[in-house]
Amino acid sequence: MLTANEIATRVESYHPTADLDLLRHAYDFSREAHDGQMRKSGDPYFCHPVSVAGIITDLRLDVASVCAALLHDVVEDTPVTTEQLAREFGDEVAFLVDGVTKLTKMNFTSRQDRQAESFRKMVVAMARDIRVLVVKLCDRLDNMRTLEFMSPDGQERISRETMDIYAPLANRLGFAQFKNEFQDLSFRYLHSDAHVEIAHAVQESASSRDHHIDKVCKLLKAKLATQGFAAQISGRVKHNYSIWRKMQDRQCSFEQVYDLTAFRVVVESVADCYAALGVIHSMWTPVPGRFKDYIALPKPNMYQSLHTTVFGPGHQRIEIQIRTHEMHEVAEMGIAAHWRYKAASGGIDPRDAAQFAWLRQLMESQNELSNPAEFLESVKVDLFQDEVYVFTPKGDVRAFPRGATPLDFAFAIHSEVGNHCAGARVNGTVVPLSYRLRNGDLVEVMTNPEQEPEKEWLDWVETARARSKIRHHMRLIQREKSKNLGRELLERAMTDGGMTLDRLEKSDDERDRVQERFGVDRLEELFVNIGYGKIKTNQVVDFLAPAEAENRRSQPPRSLRQGRIEAFVRRVTGRNSHGILLNGEDDVLVRFTKCCNPIPGDEIVGYMTRGRGITVHRRDCVKGFEADPERKVQVSWDPKAKINRPVTLTVVTANRPGILATVGQTFHGLGVNISEATCRAGDDGRASNTFTFLCSDLPRLKDVMRQLKKVEGVVDVSRV
Ligand code: MN
Repeated sequence: MLTANEIATRVESYHPTADLDLLRHAYDFSREAHDGQMRKSGDPYFCHPVSVAGIITDLRLDVASVCAALLHDVVEDTPVTTEQLAREFGDEVAFLVDGVTKLTKMNFTSRQDRQAESFRKMVVAMARDIRVLVVKLCDRLDNMRTLEFMSPDGQERISRETMDIYAPLANRLGFAQFKNEFQDLSFRYLHSDAHVEIAHAVQESASSRDHHIDKVCKLLKAKLATQGFAAQISGRVKHNYSIWRKMQDRQCSFEQVYDLTAFRVVVESVADCYAALGVIHSMWTPVPGRFKDYIALPKPNMYQSLHTTVFGPGHQRIEIQIRTHEMHEVAEMGIAAHWRYKAASGGIDPRDAAQFAWLRQLMESQNELSNPAEFLESVKVDLFQDEVYVFTPKGDVRAFPRGATPLDFAFAIHSEVGNHCAGARVNGTVVPLSYRLRNGDLVEVMTNPEQEPEKEWLDWVETARARSKIRHHMRLIQREKSKNLGRELLERAMTDGGMTLDRLEKSDDERDRVQERFGVDRLEELFVNIGYGKIKTNQVVDFLAPAEAENRRSQPPRSLRQGRIEAFVRRVTGRNSHGILLNGEDDVLVRFTKCCNPIPGDEIVGYMTRGRGITVHRRDCVKGFEADPERKVQVSWDPKAKINRPVTLTVVTANRPGILATVGQTFHGLGVNISEATCRAGDDGRASNTFTFLCSDLPRLKDVMRQLKKVEGVVDVSRV
C-alpha cells in the first residue's frame, strides 16, 4: 500500500506547485474514516482508496482528483457527509466525491442490450465533470482487479456492468489500457471456460511466439535504421478478450487466429510515419484492404496511427501500427495524455482542440487556458446536454429532451397513462406535473380515470408525441361536447317545427337525404357541425319541411329567442378572418362579445352558444358561463392572422378647454382612427370620455394607453 508521502512525491513530480498538505490530510482523514472496515480479501478497506489514488497519479491528474480518489467511499460507507468534506477539503473535492458517490449508487446492470448505450450516456451526463468519470473508472478498475474475493453472483453482475458500461466508456475517453484490462477481467468472469482455454493456449505458444516477435522486431529495426529512422519498435500479444472476439467473429480456433501479435513502430514525426510505412511496404507485401490512415482521419476518441498488415517472414501476416510519440501517448492515455502534453507547451493549440471532435463543444474559453488543471476543470462533461435519462419503476432507462416533464414520461409509457396522468412521484417524492426531469430520476406516474388532459399541459410538455396526444384528446372531448350540443339544438328546432329527431334517426331514407345534402357521412357528423355552428338548425329543418319554411320564418323559433345573447356580432366574411383557432383549426363560426371585446394578446375562452357558433370572451369575463360550464371550450388566437378588433377606452380628464383636442391629437399621432367618441362633463371638474377604435393586439393597446397617460390633464385611462 502506498504511503501518503509516496503519493505526494508522485504528484509533485508532475505538478510541482500542488497543495500536498491537502493531499496528506485527505489520506489521514480517509484512513480514520474507514478504520475497522475490511475488504472481502481480508485487507483493511483503506487499501482500496489508496490503490485508486495510485491509479489516478498514473494518469497525472490534479490534487483535487487524487483527494477525491482517497475519499471516494467515505460518504457511501461511513458516517461522513458531503458537507463535512466541503468544510475540510473545499467545494471542489466535495463535488467530485459527491459525483462518484452518485454513480456508485446506480445499478447499471443492463436489463437489455439496447439499454447499454443509454446507461453509458447517463453515466457521462451525470458525471458532469470529467474528473468524476475518471475517478469512477479508476475505482472500477481496482474493484475489478480484486473481484476474485466476491461471490460468483457479484462477480457476474459487476463484470457484466463493466463490459457493457465501463469498458466502452474507457474507450470513449481513449483509455485503451483501461479498456483492455476491463475487457480481459470481465471476460475472465463472464466466460471463464473460454478464458482458461485462451490463457492456456497463449501460454503454450509463448516461446515460439516470443521468438517470432523478436525476429520481426530485429528485421524492422535494422531496415528502418538503414533508412535513417530512429524508431522504437515493440511487439506484443493481443489481449485475451480481443483474441476471443476474433475467434467468435471468424468462427475459428485459436490456432487459426493468424494476427495474435501486433507490432508498433514509434517515430519522431508525422512525415516519418508515412516514410516508415513506405519502407515496410517495400520490405514485405501489404495485405490488400488492410491499410488504415487514422492520422488523416483520427478516431472519435482522438486515436491516431497508421495501420497496415503485411505478409512477413515465412509469409505470416503481421499487423503493424505506426505513430509518433505523442500519438502513442494519446493512444494509451486518451484525454489524460492531452492535458499532460499541454502542461509542457502551455495553452491548447486551437488545431489540437479541433481534434477533440466530441470534446470540442464542452470546452469553455479554451483560448485562455494556461495549465492542465484549468483544462480539466473546463472539461465539464456535458456531452449529452440536450438529453436527460431517467428510470422507470422497473429500472428501464428512458431518454427525453432536456426540459421534459413527468407528462412527457407518462405519454412515452402509453397514451392512456398520459391522458389520465393525475400526478407524479420522482425519487419517491410527489412533484408538480411541470417538474423538469433530471438525470437519474426515478419516475412514477399516478393515474386517475377521471383526469383528462388540460390546456396547461401543452405548456409543460417537451416531446412532440405528448403534445400531439394531448391535442388529439382535447379535440375528441370538444368534438363530443359539440356533438351533444348539436344534437340537443337540432332536436329542439325540429320539435319547434313539428318534427321529431327520433324519426329522422330511424328513417334510413330521410337520413340519407340529409347526409347527402349537408355532405356528412353520419348524423353524428351533422350534430358536430351544428354544435360548432357551421350548420344552422333551421337549414336542416327547412330542408326537411320546405313547405312550412315560409310560415315559420315569420316568427323566430322559440329556442332562438331564448338563446339570444347580447353579442356584438362581427360578420364573418370568409375563412380565417376572425383569427380564432379552436384546437388549432380556424373554420369555426366565431363571434366576439360586446361585454369584454377581446383583442389579440388577451387571454380568451370560448363559449358554445345555442346555434350561433362560439362566442369569444376574455378569460376574466365570466358573463354567461357559470350557468353552463359544459359549453366552455378552449380557443386561442391564430398567431398567423392579421386582424383588428374594436376596443373602447375610457379617458378621464380635467374638464378644461382644449384638452379633448390634445387627446385627439395624441390618438392621431399614434395612427389611431377613432370610430366613435363620447364626452361627458361631470360636476367634479372632470370629464369622462370614451373612444372606440380598431386595434391589432394587446401590446399596441398598452402602448396607446401609456401615451395617453402621459398627456397633461389626463387623470385616468382604462379599458372598458
Ligand atoms: Mn470504491
